[in-house]
Amino acid sequence: MSKTLADVIAENETLYVNCSHTLCWRTVKLDVHALADSLGADHGAMHDDLVKLFRCTKCYAEGRDQRPVFFTYLTDYEADRQRRNARPGRIDGKPQTVGLGPLERKGIDHEEDV
Ligand SMILES: [Zn+2]
Repeated sequence: MSKTLADVIAENETLYVNCSHTLCWRTVKLDVHALADSLGADHGAMHDDLVKLFRCTKCYAEGRDQRPVFFTYLTDYEADRQRRNARPGRIDGKPQTVGLGPLERKGIDHEEDV
């Protein structure tokens, strides 16, 4: 499974890079749009695609040995919730209160009495 920066943008995910040094644990939120502008939107967004591009500047400045960074993706849960709640008869996830009379429903109701 591969994932590109364009996929991260399309899914509206937030991407963080984290330092794994036990004296640091610094976390920085990445500007994925700027990263895509710089590397190309088709650049891979998985750990192996990005790990060599980042180092912890705080550890570097303080003379600590460099430890590998790791990445965290956070899903846009609000957009995900709205997608799941979006269904016919609802607008923006809210119940629709007009236009659901018997005539509008005719032809889409295929239930049979048993
Ligand atoms: Zn660090």
